[in-house]
Amino acid sequence: MLEVKNISFSYTTTPILKKISFKVDEGEYLAILGESGSGKSTLLKAIYGLLQLNEGTIFWKENQVLGPDYNLIPGEKYMKYLSQDFDLMPFITVAENVSQFLSVFYPKELKERTDELLEMVEMTSFAKIKVKNLSGGQQQRVALARVLAQEPELLLLDEPFSHIDNFRKNSLRRNLFAYLKKKKISCIVATHDQQEVLPFADRVLVVKDKAVIADAKTLALFENPKSLYIASLFAEANEIPIDVIKTYAKTKEKIIVYAHELKVSKASGLKITVKKVYPMGMYFLIEGATEEQKIFFTCDTKLALESTTYLNIPIDIINKRLA
Ligand code: ADP
Ligand code: MG
Repeated sequence: MLEVKNISFSYTTTPILKKISFKVDEGEYLAILGESGSGKSTLLKAIYGLLQLNEGTIFWKENQVLGPDYNLIPGEKYMKYLSQDFDLMPFITVAENVSQFLSVFYPKELKERTDELLEMVEMTSFAKIKVKNLSGGQQQRVALARVLAQEPELLLLDEPFSHIDNFRKNSLRRNLFAYLKKKKISCIVATHDQQEVLPFADRVLVVKDKAVIADAKTLALFENPKSLYIASLFAEANEIPIDVIKTYAKTKEKIIVYAHELKVSKASGLKITVKKVYPMGMYFLIEGATEEQKIFFTCDTKLALESTTYLNIPIDIINKRLA
């Protein structure tokens, strides 16, 4: 198990990580979610031992991760880190890159593991191609297979699908996360893409302004986001004062409502004017305006610009958010 305890770090005088604590169990997938610049990559580097912490400790089981002041060559055998640049050997083939760290004394296993990993990243047909001749997305897939070949117990991935086209992303994600679960490899993924998170992650750590603002099970966090920032990492969302929705309510409290939770009505509810309409394929995302604020909602049909419509929020959603 990984235990990160009260770590702080700064590159210069500005603090980048502020007293961060969390745990990751064996075989668990923790997603680190946050906007760009929130400190996700820095946190992964700290866990890998690339940074000298100002305070706090990091343990994997009974091993303490010590920073560069103690380890000239960073990285522990049990842990692998895939940074945003891939660290491949350009002049040797895909298969050679993947098998580079496998024992040549077991040629059968070497071949089987290489084949299995190339299949996982859907690069089997490129096995004999030199890495320098691959596209960025293909190189990223080889890099992933290469870190997995080293059989880490804990895998740290920094935006692992950033260079891969949408056409392949979904199947690769399914392959990778199924593989990690099967092998009981713990994994921490820094991302801002909810597609990596909602279907796969066991838990989510949300970072904002260099601090952890949420640490929860994925679905619980999605269903009950405590702020617009958290909700917006998952889907289009709004912050709406309760007394605007329920005029009898005597509270100034606001609740978070996802665009897809608002129901359109012709007759009653919160009155809005349609300002923008975005076709999303399966539905339309609509930007409406009340006198006070912008509101995003979804609708199966296209609404006319400047038309008036009414929005309602199911009572169970209100109750859930207020609980
Ligand atoms: P994220 O991965 O969430 O986009 P980063 O961890 O890369 O965020 O960056 C967090 C903050 O640390 C940013 O403000 C960034 O400018 C700063 N930062 C990142 N790397 C360095 C560095 N090597 N030296 C100084 N500041 C850095
Ligand atoms: Mg980053």
